[in-house]
Amino acid sequence: QLSLTQVVEHIRWNDGLVPAIVQDAETRDVLMMAYMNRESLKLSLESGETWFWSRSRQELWHKGATSGNVQQITSLKYDCDGDTLLVEVKPNGPACHTGEVTCFHNEITGLPETSEQASVANSTSSGQNDAALSEAEARFAVLGELESVIAERERERPEGAYTTYLFDKGVDKILKKIGEEASETIIAAKNKDNDELRLEVSDLMYHLLVLLQERKLPLDDIMSELSRRHERPRRD
Ligand code: AMP
Ligand code: ZN
Ligand code: ZN
Ligand code: ZN
Repeated sequence: QLSLTQVVEHIRWNDGLVPAIVQDAETRDVLMMAYMNRESLKLSLESGETWFWSRSRQELWHKGATSGNVQQITSLKYDCDGDTLLVEVKPNGPACHTGEVTCFHNEITGLPETSEQASVANSTSSGQNDAALSEAEARFAVLGELESVIAERERERPEGAYTTYLFDKGVDKILKKIGEEASETIIAAKNKDNDELRLEVSDLMYHLLVLLQERKLPLDDIMSELSRRHERPRRD
C-alpha cells in the first residue's frame, strides 16, 4: 500500500543497507539473506525481481543474472521496527550458489531435545513402534498430497480441471462453495445420513484446501495451530 518513497522512510538503514530475508512463497522455505540498499530496493520494486547490494563485490546484484535463478517477488514486507525486509518469492531455481535450494542447508546438531520430541520418543518406547507412527502419518498423507496437487493446478491451470475453474473464478467463488458444502454437511448430519456426510465433509475439506492455497496459507500452519492447542488446552 506504500509507495517507494514512503517505504524508504520507514526503513532503518544501517550504513545504507537493510537485511532482506528471502522466503519461498509456496514452500515457505527460508531461502537466503542478503542486503538491499535504496537502489536495489527500487530496482526490486520496479522489476518485480530481487536485487541486492553485494557487500563483497561492492555492486548492485540482480539475483539470478548469471545463474538464471531469478526470484519473482510476490510480496515485500518490513518488520515492526523497520530494520529487516521479508521478500516472498517464486524462485526460478536454487537460491544458493552451491546449487542447494536454500542457503540454510548447514544444520548444527546437538540441541537439547524439545518436549515434543521427548514425548514422541516416550510413546515410541512405551509400545508404539516406528511402524505405527508412520502408519499414523500415512493416514493423513493424502491431505498433503491433495495440497500439492491443488498448488500444481493453480500454477499450471490445466484445461477442464475443476480446481482450475475455481482458481479462474477467484476467491469469491471458492468462498461460496465453502458456504454451500458447509450447509450440505449440516443437512447430511441432521438427516443422520453418514454416507452423505462422508461425501459432504470430503467436499468441504477439499474446498477448504483450495481456499488455503488461494490465500497462500500452508496446511502445515493449520496443523501447527491445532497441535499447539492440543498441547496447551485453553481455559476459556
Ligand atoms: P546469481 O545471482 O544466482 O546469478 O549468482 C551470481 C553470483 O552471486 C554467484 O556466483 C555468487 O557469487 C553470488 N550468489 C548467488 N547466490 C547467492 C546467495 N544466495 N548468497 C550469496 N551469494 C550468492
Ligand atoms: Zn514485532
Ligand atoms: Zn526488526
Ligand atoms: Zn548460499
